[in-house]
Parts: sequence; structure tokens; C-alpha cells
Amino acid sequence: MSDAPVIHTTDGQPVDGMGCHAGATQMEAAARAAGNSEILDRYAADYPQGPHDKPQSMCPAFGSLRVGLRMRRVATVLSGSACCVYGLTFVSHFYGARRSVGYVPFNSESLVTGKLFEDIRDAVHELADPDRYDAIVVTNLCVPTASGVPLKLLPDEINGVRVVGIDVPGFGVPTHAEAKDVLAGAMLKYARAEIMAGPVAAPAQGRSDRPTVALLGEMFPADPMMIGAMLAPMGLAAGPVVPCREWRELYAALDSKVVAAIHPFYTASVREFQAAGRTVVGSAPVGYDGTMAWLAAIGAAYDVDPARIAAAQNAFGPAIKGALAASPIKGRITLSGYEGSELLVARLLIESGADVPYVGTACAKTPWNMGDAEWLAAKGVVVQFRASLENDLAAMEAFAPDLAIGTTPVVQKAKQAGIPSLYFTNLISARPLMGPAGAGSLAQVVTAAMGNKTRMATMRDFFEGVGTGDTAGIWEGAPNLRPDFRAAHQKKLDKLARAAKAEEMI
Ligand code: SF4
Repeated sequence: MSDAPVIHTTDGQPVDGMGCHAGATQMEAAARAAGNSEILDRYAADYPQGPHDKPQSMCPAFGSLRVGLRMRRVATVLSGSACCVYGLTFVSHFYGARRSVGYVPFNSESLVTGKLFEDIRDAVHELADPDRYDAIVVTNLCVPTASGVPLKLLPDEINGVRVVGIDVPGFGVPTHAEAKDVLAGAMLKYARAEIMAGPVAAPAQGRSDRPTVALLGEMFPADPMMIGAMLAPMGLAAGPVVPCREWRELYAALDSKVVAAIHPFYTASVREFQAAGRTVVGSAPVGYDGTMAWLAAIGAAYDVDPARIAAAQNAFGPAIKGALAASPIKGRITLSGYEGSELLVARLLIESGADVPYVGTACAKTPWNMGDAEWLAAKGVVVQFRASLENDLAAMEAFAPDLAIGTTPVVQKAKQAGIPSLYFTNLISARPLMGPAGAGSLAQVVTAAMGNKTRMATMRDFFEGVGTGDTAGIWEGAPNLRPDFRAAHQKKLDKLARAAKAEEMI
């Protein structure tokens, strides 16, 4: 048995046994006591919270893990509780990571004696093979962040392999979307320092002969191509998409004079672009209004001749109008998600003819989604930033939509209520949204789902009463109910609760 002291939260719980079920306040207090105030203050400013102040969906660190796993020649190492790492690796492989995730395990002793940090450093040294990797990303999850494991003390590079250490605690980063920004921002910061220190590698496919617009946010693969086509009449080209797929794309992104914040939550990344003197433009080219406004804003940021901006608008405006008119959407839709593109999708649905009374997004209001929020508000849409599951469910109940687009628990509730529903992540994010390609792309899936109303009602009637309460499961006879057992057990629970209360008062 070890004599090493165990790190505790303010209410006396050892942090190494804690997770998202523990009090975020206590974990945060422990992290501050361990010297991590600066990071937590920066996250609080970058990702303002409330009412959604706790992960209500997946662990936020999944966002940054996925960004690292999708990059070529980048190794990812997690430092956190085994259960967190199990969940994170499971989800990453579920989403087709096809890559190993490194893990440095710990216990109370290695956490407090500093051995965990040494283990991480050893692991990074072992991994740092320049033939295999450009960079290694080490992520502190909740417990090592709360314990102040100092990743900033890792070497910046080993054998030419860059080392990027980030803290992504569930109690500091509200959504997995924003965790993508934590890593993207850290990488941009690193790459910017490299650029300032001397010449860096050119993009693998060479530099564009036209000025580029870097694109912030993970998009459907056809979207950057569509954006490139729309920029061409202005003499511009689409630059890299951040989060990048390769380290040297970071340099090309920083080299773009204008950055399009297609997804609005990349606060840390925007900070790096602005520090490099780049202009950031919000919203995205979705639907007719959105595309016209976006092309004008990008053109203005690049000081493009108004005639060329008009040429781009005229080249694509009629095609967008035509696609919207050819694929109308009829019906009422409530929409919610945590991807950051919810407002853009709502704009597209409304321009397609849908009645969208409510949009909930787990992300915060930023300067980059303000234009979309105003456009939607002018159409009478209730826009809820940092929407909680409760907000989304209440909206679905209140507006009785023909279709609910949302996260897994929203869709589950919708099914129970016999309301047709679609998963935002799997079915909406996996379609083009930009320009003419996006204009008609949602109609088919949305209209087909709405057409399922009668089927959903039949299913609900068929399953009515199955799977709830005492009738759960398959019974050959009536369930053997024992209200006397239940009453006796309740008495025991009440007694325990009274005893606990009395102890609290001592
Ligand atoms: S790292 Fe993720 S799964 Fe683990 S405790 Fe934190 S929020 Fe929960």
C-alpha cells in the first residue's frame, strides 16, 4: 500500500476516482488549486457556458481526439481514467479511426508523485519517430487536468517530431465541437510560431496561383469544392479546411488572407488567424440569401472589384433559386444539434419552404453566427444557444412538428411520441449544404422522413405499453406485482435517507 497522498476535491473526494458523474464545481476547484486557473479562465472566455454547462452528450474530448486521428502522420496519446479512455477509443473506432490511440495509465500514486508526467514524457520520447510522425498530440482528460499534470513541461519537439499538449476537461470545455477548436487552435499556434521562426514546407499539392480563403469547420467533402467554384469568378480559391488533414496544411491556412468561419465555434483558431493579421468572415454560403451575403462579405474582405462580386453572385444565384424551387419542403420542423451548423441548416430549410419554429444548438453565440441568428430571428424562429436537452424536448413538445431533427435522445423521444425524426449528425451533416449543391440536398431525406408519420403512429400504437414500467419485457401471463415488497423496500430507502440527513447535521 502506498503512502503517497491522494489529491482531493474541495469536498474531500479523491479526484482519481472521479468522472463526469462527479461535481464539475469540485473538479474545477481541484484543477485551479493544482495551478490550471489560466487554462480554465481561457476556456471560460472562449467557450462561455450556461445553461448547458455539463456534457449532455458525448465526452468533449472526443472532438479533439477525432481531429488528431484524422490527421496524417499524427499520433494521439490520452492521459485519463481508464473508463474515459475506453469510451473514447470505442467511439473513435466506431467512427472508423483505423488508428491506434496511445494511453498512459495512472493511479493515485503516479498522479500525485509526478510519475504520471514522467510516464507521459517517456511515452512521447518512445513514439517520436520522424519517419512515422510529424506530430504527437497528448491530451489530459478530466482527472489529470484536475490534478495539474503539467503537459506544458513536455519538450516542444523530439527528433523533429512536434509535441502538442492540451487539456480537454469536461468541466472546462462544454461540447465536443469546441474541443476540436482546442486542438486546432493549439496546432495553429504551433505552426504560426514555426512560420515566424523561418521558412516552412509548402503544401503537398503546391501553392494556389490565386489568393485563398481558408475554411474553418469540418464539412461534407463536396462543400469545399462547391465553395471553390463559387469563389472562382472573384479570382479567389478555396484554401485548406481547418481542422487540417496534414501538418503543412496549417501553414497554407495561415497564409490565407481571409478565413471563413463556416462553423462558428473556433474561437482559439480565430485568435491565431487574427494574430497573423487575417480577416475572419462569419456565416456560410447556404441558400440564396446566405450565399449572396457571404460572397459579398468575402469579396469585400479581399477588396475584390464589385463587378466581379456581382459576377459570382449572378453565376450562382439563379441556380440556387432554381434548386430550392425544384425541391420544396413542406411541413413544420424543429431542429437541434451539437455540430455548430444548426443555424445554417435551418436557413436552408426555411428557404426551401419549411416552417422552422425552433433551432437549438449546443454551441454558444459568437460573432460568426450572429448574422445567421439575426436572419432566423427576422423569420420568427426561436434560436436557443447552449440549448440543453430539456430545451430541445420542450420545443418539440410545444411546436408539435411534422419532423424533429436532433440528437440521439431527442430522436428517441420523438419516436416514442410517434413524431418522424432524423439524426442531425448522421443524416443531415452527411450532405452538402453549400451553394447550388446544398440547395436541394435536404429535401429528399426530409420529405421522406415526414412521409413516415402514419407509419410512426402505427408503430407507436402497436408498441403502446410495451417497454415501460411493470409491463417491460415479454410476459406469458400478467406480471407478478408485489406492492408489499415495493413498500417495504421504499421504507428502507427512506430510513437510509433520514440517517444520511441526520449525519449531515452533526
Ligand atoms: S474525460 Fe470525458 S468521459 Fe472522462 S470524466 Fe471527463 S468528460 Fe467524462
